[in-house]
Amino acid sequence: MYGMKPQDQFIKHALKMLFDDGVVAVFRREGIFHIDGLACHYSASYPTGFVGVADNDDALDVFASFVAGFTMQDTDEENAVLANWQKLCRDLARRDDDHPATLLFSAPEVMLVFNHHADKVEELEMRVGPILEENPVKNQQARLQRPAAIFRPDNIEKVQDCVRWALRHGLGLTVVGGGHSAHCHRSNVVAIDMSAFDSVHILKEVEDEDDQDIAFNSLVVAGVGCKTVNIISRTLKKGLTVPLGSRPSVGAGLWLQGGIGHLTRMYGLTCDNIVGAVLISVASGEIFYVGRVPSKHVPKEARRPDNETDILWALKGAGTNFGIVLSVTLHAYRAHTFHTRSWVIPLGDNAEAKRRLREFNEKVAKGCSKFCSADAYLYCEDGRLKLGITTFTLTGAASPSPMTILSKREGDIWGTKSDINIVDGVEAFEAEMYMSKMHGEHGDGKTSSLKRCVFLKDIGGSKIARHLVSAVESRPSPFCYLHLLHGGGKAGEVTPEATAFGCRDWDFACIITGVWPQDEDGSRVAHASVQWVYDVVDSLLPLSRGTYGADLGPDPRDAVLAEKAFGPNTVRLGRLKRLMDPRDVLAWACPLPKPRCPNSSFLLPANTAPARTTAPANGSPFSLNMTVTLLLQRMVFARKL
Ligand SMILES: Cc1cc2nc3c(=O)[nH]c(=O)nc-3n(C[C@H](O)[C@H](O)[C@H](O)COP(=O)(O)OP(=O)(O)OC[C@H]3O[C@@H](n4cnc5c(N)ncnc54)[C@H](O)[C@@H]3O)c2cc1C
Repeated sequence: MYGMKPQDQFIKHALKMLFDDGVVAVFRREGIFHIDGLACHYSASYPTGFVGVADNDDALDVFASFVAGFTMQDTDEENAVLANWQKLCRDLARRDDDHPATLLFSAPEVMLVFNHHADKVEELEMRVGPILEENPVKNQQARLQRPAAIFRPDNIEKVQDCVRWALRHGLGLTVVGGGHSAHCHRSNVVAIDMSAFDSVHILKEVEDEDDQDIAFNSLVVAGVGCKTVNIISRTLKKGLTVPLGSRPSVGAGLWLQGGIGHLTRMYGLTCDNIVGAVLISVASGEIFYVGRVPSKHVPKEARRPDNETDILWALKGAGTNFGIVLSVTLHAYRAHTFHTRSWVIPLGDNAEAKRRLREFNEKVAKGCSKFCSADAYLYCEDGRLKLGITTFTLTGAASPSPMTILSKREGDIWGTKSDINIVDGVEAFEAEMYMSKMHGEHGDGKTSSLKRCVFLKDIGGSKIARHLVSAVESRPSPFCYLHLLHGGGKAGEVTPEATAFGCRDWDFACIITGVWPQDEDGSRVAHASVQWVYDVVDSLLPLSRGTYGADLGPDPRDAVLAEKAFGPNTVRLGRLKRLMDPRDVLAWACPLPKPRCPNSSFLLPANTAPARTTAPANGSPFSLNMTVTLLLQRMVFARKL
């Protein structure tokens, strides 16, 4: 579209020329891109700006045939063409010293695909409106996206209207819970803000015919517009708590995809404690309820679906992919107070860092009963590597705990200097070291960040410790850090197949957090910090016990991580996704691996205008078309097959 201005007018004009099944696909080389007033049928991003192909003849034959759109026969003549193509690929590709065996091809970063219903946002506004002018979600990357519109339905019928509108017009939706992930907003996609569904109902000591073993059997029915702190502060008043995560403002995305916090070792993950839910099917717009939903919380038109067991299973760990959830029924437990204790240990050199990590693992973490947990932070401050440690111990809990271990040995492990506090479930949020101690509280919060998480077993082992220490040393911005969040205990006792959350054999969730100043969004340091996160994850992956699905989204780098997020449940989840969301309405949630794609390809002539006009100096029309082809294939696969 070089020279075509205003671009949106040309795109809108092109949309008017479409036949029923046609689409307009718009590619943009870099950055965030949107077109005012239009809702897209599909979008994809390719944020690294290049694709890599293994530098060997076989891979190049497959790749070049794919780009060309047809397969060569095994004849002398056609083999000669293939040999030419191999040479062409090698001549056109870039190379990178870090990946000498890979050929790199420049690619557009964003693709938006519009169908002839792209201008139907007004129709939804009439039914569900008004469009929210502002929706300041927590996540800065999500805030940079420009949704086609943000609606805040305040009753169930309006959520159904949104789904039916999306189905009727072949459009997608994103759902906003606590707004902590990067993918609750997407440019040119309608966002459904669920904050109106914020009720919390507490049912103390209800009868449970199915599970007589639960001594203290209380339930909480929480609307998905609630944040963690809304639930905990309400339940605390009744002497109850729910095992949620460690931050007060996180929302339903956490409950539905895992939920690791200081009660995990005692009561399991949040998703383990889901016993029922109400949701809107994104296949039909119907209201479903599954599992245990107290009768007065079952909406009038709701029904139990035939595959209720599958849905409840899937909501426990992969629950953002199968429908728009309205409320969740969770087990609640007697509330406690915690002793918290924090240490910051300056580390002299690498060797000391590894030794301290080993000591932490052996002498503190392994000494914890399930009534306590011990988190570690590895970070740099004032140019110096530091190990931060926080222990949480239930007051009055049985030994052994890090408290008792450390008091016996005080002085010979961490020194006597530590902060000791007694906190309740709400105050515990502020005991997090990265909120209270590290990096001057992250530059007073004026930072952007990206987190990805791998599950680790033996963090004191020399290989893992070496990777952790060198990860912090290679950080591109001083604020980047690693958080080792203690798991195991009850969460590790659940079999991997029992819930969709399939990774169970780990002791620590290692959260790799790239942080950069907010006013440097989009800058080199921001890109480097994001890439640092993926590189560290990549290096830890072979040593890990899986990945955490909660932060994974449409970035293609996440697809690789998603394959490791669900353990033995991947195939079952992929099948269920196709059944429950056949039109990919929730296309931007955690990417569940899809069933294999039947052969389909496009013939895109190398000398098409867009290729010629937007190809980078060091790239080529050839490389661009290849990416176009890949992206279009993904789209067609997602929506049509
Ligand atoms: C500062 C911070 C602290 C964190 N702390 C923890 C922690 O202690 N423990 C932990 O386990 N994780 C933690 N996380 C990770 C967190 O669990 C994920 O980022 C999670 O996805 C956030 O959920 P949300 O509802 O706040 O975000 P959102 O961005 O609103 O939602 C996340 C995903 O869930 C989908 N979704 C939300 N609501 C619904 C719904 N009703 N129906 C269907 N889909 C829905 C969204 O579309 C999106 O794909 C933390 C993240 C951050 C940024």
